[in-house]
Amino acid sequence: MTESHSAPLTLFNSLTRQPEKFRPVHPGEARVYTCGPTVYNYQHIGNMRAYIFADTLGRVLSWKGYELAHIINITDVGHLTSDADAGDDKMEKAASESGKSAWDIAKFYTQAYWRDIERLNIRQPARWSIATEHVEQMIDFAKSIADKHCYELDSGLYFDTSTVPDYGRLARANTDEGESRIDPVEGKRHATDFAIWRKTPEGETRQMEWDSPWGKGAPGWHLECSVMSKMYLGETFDIHTGGIDHREIHHPNEIAQNQAHSCSADTGANIWMHNNFLVDHGGKMSKSAGEFLTLQLLVDKGVHPLAYRLMCLQAHYRSELEFTFDNLLAALTRLKRMVMAVEAIKNRHAELVSASTSQSARTVPTDGWTLKQVQGDEDIRSNIQYLDQIRELDEAISDDLNTPMALLSLEVFLGSKAVDPIVSLKEIAATDAILGLDLLTLTREDLRIRPTSAEITEVEIERQLDLRQNAKANKNFPAADAIRDELAARGVEIMDGDPLRWDWRIDV
Ligand code: AMP
Ligand code: ZN
Repeated sequence: MTESHSAPLTLFNSLTRQPEKFRPVHPGEARVYTCGPTVYNYQHIGNMRAYIFADTLGRVLSWKGYELAHIINITDVGHLTSDADAGDDKMEKAASESGKSAWDIAKFYTQAYWRDIERLNIRQPARWSIATEHVEQMIDFAKSIADKHCYELDSGLYFDTSTVPDYGRLARANTDEGESRIDPVEGKRHATDFAIWRKTPEGETRQMEWDSPWGKGAPGWHLECSVMSKMYLGETFDIHTGGIDHREIHHPNEIAQNQAHSCSADTGANIWMHNNFLVDHGGKMSKSAGEFLTLQLLVDKGVHPLAYRLMCLQAHYRSELEFTFDNLLAALTRLKRMVMAVEAIKNRHAELVSASTSQSARTVPTDGWTLKQVQGDEDIRSNIQYLDQIRELDEAISDDLNTPMALLSLEVFLGSKAVDPIVSLKEIAATDAILGLDLLTLTREDLRIRPTSAEITEVEIERQLDLRQNAKANKNFPAADAIRDELAARGVEIMDGDPLRWDWRIDV
């Protein structure tokens, strides 16, 4: 039985462009590094897709029983307006445009990002590693590779990409076409060479600058991830994640630095994983396009953040995902159907409990379940039907995190009626430890569409609905209709007979 419920975990490795069996460097452990946000602005919902993906990976590794060490960095220095070495530092630019200090901007947008992380049920990593707190280590790292792998120009210290084996293997872009995407910097030996340290130009002062053997300046963006991943996860660790744009420049450059540092062909992480883009009608969602969608905007429209999480899980992480409000509302409806199914199971459980004399033994865990615990649970073991559900789900997520399939097997399970509700609830708890949808605690009411701009309160809507109910009960239909019209005039649509029992909604 145990065998059938522990499908081998395979993950698609961007380095080999193949699915590969996960074999941890340290038995029983999984060490993961995720490239985090550049905190010069709010994150858009495309960015948040990258963290939902990394969180799902972490949850699956925990589910499989690995002790997870997950690091996410916060880039608060060094990322230029172009991913290559051109343009201004995003932080400094945001500071000069807003009149605030770069440090204040970093703090503000880091907090905003953490708020979104929480609202999307993304688990806290073992550490948020903040770039500006590691500059000393970055300088030490740069010193250790400078002689053999770098050269100095007036503008800074540059990494010579011809000094490491197979530069660009990850990007597969060692072609003229690949290189032509990189903006030229005067004096660079190769188009793909990149800044390790950027000197503050003569006569200028930056808000964020440090002394170094190459003069006052700031670290190049790629340096921080090599330094912090090694520091917290070791010279060779398991998995490195990021959005697919990082496969082209940022991650090949990290790999080059890692190889220089270890004087070997070791790429640092064994597996490099990349989520595909969230796109909208205009193409890849990005901040440079001006207006962009934030999680807060979805919340302002009245949509629960976990509907966005579900929308992401409905697509495989390696597929492009198109954002439209219709797609989001469809995900919200799907989530609501699941929550209602869980509520029905909870009600059956409550009925059984009240009919039973021994109530106390039947408590339900809500999270943190691993495969081992589910296998060890007598309630679940006792019924093969439920084990099949777990097996299906386990196979789906073990196959390069196939969350769309995992959701389907969960829904089949939620739809099966002839199940001991306590067993169902345990399975839902186990499943939700992977999906992170709060299925045992969300309520129908939580998922109501409630735009923040609505002028009418829910208490008042409910009061009006009670009055309408009374009017109907007294066969005073004109009065009931008048209440309905009045609510409609205030943007509230009454949904009599709605199969999902929304009861009412405020127009988005
Ligand atoms: P940044 O803050 O620009 O460093 O980006 C944070 C993360 O979001 C990185 O992993 C990016 O690769 C990822 N990312 C950026 N745009 C998108 C998008 N439209 N869809 C999915 N991921 C994205
Ligand atoms: Zn990075």
